[in-house]
Amino acid sequence: MSDDFDVVVIGGGPAGYPAAIRAAQNGLSVACIDEWRNYDGSHAFGGTCLNAGCIPSKALLESTELVHRAQHEFKAHGIGVGTVSVDLAAMQKRKATIVRQSTQGILALFKGAGVTPLQGHGRLLPGLRVEFTARDGAVRALQAKNVILASGSQPMALRSAPFDGKRIVDSWGALEFDAVPGRLGVIGAGVIGLELGSVWRRLGAEVVILEALPDFLPMADGQVAKEALRHFKKLGLDIRLGARVTGASVTGDEVRVSYADAKGEQSITVDKLVVAIGRRPYTGGLLADGTGVTLDERGFIEVDDHCRTPAAHVWAVGDCVRGPMLAHKGKEEGVAVADAIAGLYAEVNYKVIPSVIYTAPEIAWVGLTEEQARSSGRACKVGSFPFSASGRARAMEAAAGFCKIVAAVDDDEILGVHVIGPMAGELIAEAVLAMEYSASSEDLQRTIHAHPTLSEALHEAALAADKRAIDCLNK
Ligand code: FAD
Ligand code: NAD
Repeated sequence: MSDDFDVVVIGGGPAGYPAAIRAAQNGLSVACIDEWRNYDGSHAFGGTCLNAGCIPSKALLESTELVHRAQHEFKAHGIGVGTVSVDLAAMQKRKATIVRQSTQGILALFKGAGVTPLQGHGRLLPGLRVEFTARDGAVRALQAKNVILASGSQPMALRSAPFDGKRIVDSWGALEFDAVPGRLGVIGAGVIGLELGSVWRRLGAEVVILEALPDFLPMADGQVAKEALRHFKKLGLDIRLGARVTGASVTGDEVRVSYADAKGEQSITVDKLVVAIGRRPYTGGLLADGTGVTLDERGFIEVDDHCRTPAAHVWAVGDCVRGPMLAHKGKEEGVAVADAIAGLYAEVNYKVIPSVIYTAPEIAWVGLTEEQARSSGRACKVGSFPFSASGRARAMEAAAGFCKIVAAVDDDEILGVHVIGPMAGELIAEAVLAMEYSASSEDLQRTIHAHPTLSEALHEAALAADKRAIDCLNK
């Protein structure tokens, strides 16, 4: 096998593997190196997202949402199911099957596209050389014309509550519990805390989430955050804001977590503790001396707007570079870099990256929040439509939440869209497309939406921005 490649990608997660496939589609010779190992020692492409993040978490969110609906909503449909039983082992097995299908799918895609998969560690050396250490320890020196670094991220640890892999775990550990913890503590009311807190709460755990910040979901639109907090409390999540964790100690089967809040020193005792306080870029063993690639003070690989590092022909994409740590952001960067290498048009529109929190109700947004739009100084108008006024949402027994659009007064440009409610993550795609094409709220108003669908909520929200909504009162 040749050790010379047009492109060597280090990292086979959602940023790296699409980069490899697109580069191969562009007619280049490509190798993709990945060292991911699962708990059982098996290797799999797909990185954090497929093995320990997006996919397994969504599998469990889906299963547990069904449990919740069967327990709490079926009755309203006139369906009696008696006592709902849960077979956690079967639920976990289903999750593992979905993960395996997804990760094996990447190998099939590589085969189809002609990408050479290399399982093991990659290290960038000066002169566009890459040292590849295979799983059996064999070392090969690869020569590349371009290198794409896509080494991803890892969970941040808390010094006062260090992971022990058993009682104090990260998000991956929290996806693998083989029994529902009676009492679950979560540090961090961010995306992971809320998603995984919801999973275990729906299965019966008492869940306390300790969040250091005084505000809930500060990155979301204020109205959405307020509505979300109401629903999470109704689910039974005990979310304590302004709670700074000061220590955690394991005694026998319990973890005692101390924290300080406005009332002083407090503590909780739980069976498991999940630390979900954010992730940091991972570049362990990635860069030899003299490559010219630099890291910023937080450990991110430094890149320009086109993902170029200071080293010629070395690029970096995904969680290991600045920007939101989202799979779709990494994917777009990877594909754009592969196109740029081939001399094709390549651009990532960082202004319209959607965010989704897969809780119930689901939360999704794109662009500016109302607060950000107003503080930008540009006059803006807001239109909202509640799902309680949507026939489809009511038929689904999922009428909580609303859809909200923020648009500029001067030229009617859509500045942001915020959805909390059923299928918010799917509904946001229309807003993303509209903003990608610089649509105005009038463009959405004049677009026909099928009836009865959830998407009508976005249509009506756009109409409401000009006080022309039909199916709700214009305020
Ligand atoms: P990674 O997925 O981390 O992949 C990097 C890969 O590179 C890994 O396989 C790693 O082993 C490998 N690697 C690193 N260094 C080397 C080296 N030197 N040699 C060889 N291989 C190397 N995002 C979403 O958009 N939607 C979601 O719903 C979502 N849910 C999530 C849920 C959880 C619980 C978590 C933890 C994350 C979630 N994320 C979600 C975030 C998402 O997983 C990341 O943004 C995404 O995985 C980043 O992709 P990446 O390719 O940059 O890095
Ligand atoms: P996050 O940044 O979303 O939330 C971390 C939270 O922990 C913050 O609210 C922060 O204030 C809080 N925190 C930090 N230190 C604390 C402390 N000492 N005590 C109490 N609270 C503390 O991070 P995350 O939830 O760990 O997720 C990591 C990344 O994974 C995110 O960037 C996210 O984008 C990505 N992710 C995305 C999805 C999705 O797209 N649906 C799902 C899961 C994860």
